[in-house]
Amino acid sequence: MSAKCNIIGMPATHVVTNQVPPLVGRDVAEDPALLEGLRREGAGWAEDDLHRLGRLAGSERAQEWGRVANENEPVLRTHDRYGNRVDEVEYHPAYHDLMTVAIENGMHAAPWLDENKGAHVARAAKFYTWTQVEGGHGCPISMTYAVVPALRHNPELSRRIEPLLAASVYDPGLRVPETKRGLTAGMSMTEKQGGSDVRANTTRAVPQADGSYLLTGHKWFTSAPMCDVFLVLAQAPGGLSCFLLPRVLPDGTRNRMHLQRLKDKLGNRSNASSEVEYDEAVAWLVGEEGGGVRTIIQMVNMTRLDCVIAGAAGMRAGLVQAVHHATHRQAFGSHLVDTPLMRNVLADLAIESEAATTLAMRLAGATDQAMAGDEQATAFRRLGLAVSKYWVCKRASTHAAEALECLGGNGYVEESGMPRLYREAPLISIWEGSGNVAALDVLRAMGSGTEAFFAELDQGAGYDKRLDDAVSALRGDIARLAADPVAAQAGARRLVERMALVLQGSLLVQHGHPAVADAFCASRLDGDWGVAFGTLPSGVDTAAIVERARVS
Ligand SMILES: Cc1cc2nc3c(=O)[nH]c(=O)nc-3n(C[C@H](O)[C@H](O)[C@H](O)COP(=O)(O)OP(=O)(O)OC[C@H]3O[C@@H](n4cnc5c(N)ncnc54)[C@H](O)[C@@H]3O)c2cc1C
Repeated sequence: MSAKCNIIGMPATHVVTNQVPPLVGRDVAEDPALLEGLRREGAGWAEDDLHRLGRLAGSERAQEWGRVANENEPVLRTHDRYGNRVDEVEYHPAYHDLMTVAIENGMHAAPWLDENKGAHVARAAKFYTWTQVEGGHGCPISMTYAVVPALRHNPELSRRIEPLLAASVYDPGLRVPETKRGLTAGMSMTEKQGGSDVRANTTRAVPQADGSYLLTGHKWFTSAPMCDVFLVLAQAPGGLSCFLLPRVLPDGTRNRMHLQRLKDKLGNRSNASSEVEYDEAVAWLVGEEGGGVRTIIQMVNMTRLDCVIAGAAGMRAGLVQAVHHATHRQAFGSHLVDTPLMRNVLADLAIESEAATTLAMRLAGATDQAMAGDEQATAFRRLGLAVSKYWVCKRASTHAAEALECLGGNGYVEESGMPRLYREAPLISIWEGSGNVAALDVLRAMGSGTEAFFAELDQGAGYDKRLDDAVSALRGDIARLAADPVAAQAGARRLVERMALVLQGSLLVQHGHPAVADAFCASRLDGDWGVAFGTLPSGVDTAAIVERARVS
């Protein structure tokens, strides 16, 4: 449209052309890699529900909740007007709306009491879909999901609390847990002197005659402090132990969990992350005294799954925005999506995103299998999850930066939503085992898990020679590194990266779109690739890959 043919009365300076239409009113679950994974991993029965959620996630209303919840950050109220400690955090109603949808759709602890086969897969697909609206509230949702296997180390507490953690009711506010219709759970491990090295925790736990413990000490990071219960690590007489600590005690009084301040974070701003002091706070032992790490690791192993799902979700959200923008935006006489170089960038982003989604869904499937007692799946999940936590979370930040750039200057502006995505991305790589710690965890998990990991890879054997070669080279290198633990540590990132790539490659050659699988093998496994996104070799079908990522 020329600047002159504007609406009558409107100054020519206000004619808006070549801006893309808003991406609203779509079904976020309309995502081939997600839906194929959902069916393949045994939760096709959840498809209708997933689409309902996807349509809500794609609505203007839900996107507005995400924006508003981040622009109106939680506020800490340490005291009431009379000077009594209250230690509460106030959230904007939009945050509560997001939480309500997440819990009513069973993204919290619901799968633990759901007898449907594939319940963890269905839940993973929903978490992936819904956290594309907003990542911050995913933190308490994820912790509420993850707490259950650890809590079961105290069967009596679990019997009382678990049904409330799994109830599909969001019931915010500090009250006696057993009087509420639904509960949320958090975790409190990291102290000032160390987060990765929790054995350095100094919080003390003193046993009481009634079987409870009094905890005294501090925690440097405790997110979502308005959760009803927390798993806390503290030093008991028998060593570092895991405890369940309620915000409100059975007699209705507040437990002595004092919120010192909220973190001023890079992103994740809808979610409160607090510094806490426990001043003889009442808690109950979960698991054995001295077995704290062993117990809480069961929670960590579930939150790590969510880190992978959230990483894949972030990539998908960025990819969709990038492809949408390039589809509608013109430069130098053509739509960006039709320019060969932009198509290379978009296809490269799409491959990364599909690989992450396919992997996340496979790990969710392995979770269901492991929970049903499948030993092979348990061993694969242990190592495969550690590998994926490192790689998918690491790729999320780079992916977000490139997706943002596809929108040009608009991508750098808050209204596009891309800055929020970009700021959120590094968190999943830090939380629950920062990069190096995640890579070292892979070395630890290798003993018993390696065989199961290669058995999983074997299912993709014979589809693509580039994959087969990469797998056999990896097998040889793992055997060599086993003889040199120092070299293994120094080279852990490099090794884990290769493990992640062959795992993703194996899944894609079996289940992915042929053009995606081919481009993945050429670039990620055969080395015909640059360092930045947009460096796919010639000969790959970028048009088909981008077409698959296009949304209406
Ligand atoms: C937004 C946010 C929310 C959080 N919420 C919670 C929460 O709810 N509850 C909770 O308990 N914690 C929470 N954390 C804390 C988080 O889990 C820790 O920050 C994380 O585990 C890392 O610990 P650290 O910060 O002490 O870093 P450090 O342990 O000091 O690690 C610093 C760096 O050194 C690396 N490193 C550590 N050990 C080694 C090694 N042996 N070899 C090589 N490199 C190594 C790490 O990978 C990392 O890059 C949160 C953090 C963030 C950012």
